[in-house]
Amino acid sequence: QQGGGQTTFDYEDMGDLGDIFDNLFRGFNQGGPTQQFARPKNLQNTIEVTLEEAYAGASRTFQLQSEEICPTCGGSGKSGTRGNICPSCGGAGRVARVKRIEVKIPAGVAEGSKIRLAGEGTMGRGGSKGDLYLVVKMLPSKNFERKVDDLYTDAPVSLYTVLLGGEVEVTLPKGRLALKIPAETQNGNVFKLTGKGMPRLGKGTYGDLYIRIKAILPTKLSPQEKQLYAQLKSLRQG
Ligand SMILES: [Zn+2]
Repeated sequence: QQGGGQTTFDYEDMGDLGDIFDNLFRGFNQGGPTQQFARPKNLQNTIEVTLEEAYAGASRTFQLQSEEICPTCGGSGKSGTRGNICPSCGGAGRVARVKRIEVKIPAGVAEGSKIRLAGEGTMGRGGSKGDLYLVVKMLPSKNFERKVDDLYTDAPVSLYTVLLGGEVEVTLPKGRLALKIPAETQNGNVFKLTGKGMPRLGKGTYGDLYIRIKAILPTKLSPQEKQLYAQLKSLRQG
């Protein structure tokens, strides 16, 4: 389900985040004797991010299973004065809750960037929780090459525009811009647009955008076009 740059993940689609379950419940409620972590533990997982998301920032909503102190026994794992095992949590003192969390992916994240979700790690014995760190894995982009904060892209341009000059529409990771190119622009020429590259994480500045001109030669020439190109050729050859 996509819309407005927001992706909603459900259990089936959670991919790498599925590991969170394993991590959360390791040593907890596995049928054997209950072992609890004395200290809260941080968890780490991978979040896959597209270049478009890293460029503009994004937010995603996840459903994940979270540990809470068992409300029935208040975490003791026992019920009543006789010390029976609490029926709600089976003696673990904690229960699993499905929780919806919104993850903000800040503009400018790169491979290896860490997004911290405070309190979404493993619960320690005292009930305090560690944090969950999502480590960014950048997905490759079809249209852009990223070198640190700089972006490189090809702009297809008609033969006539490279010869006569004109405006070229360049698609950005978000939005478009119009690039004016001079007459007789050579195929493969690169134009640098300062400050139009990737945002620098937390800095409010931007890298540069490099646009390489890729001239598109016409095909399926009509007899008349062929005749005119032949004329152009003879003009050149004198
Ligand atoms: Zn309980």
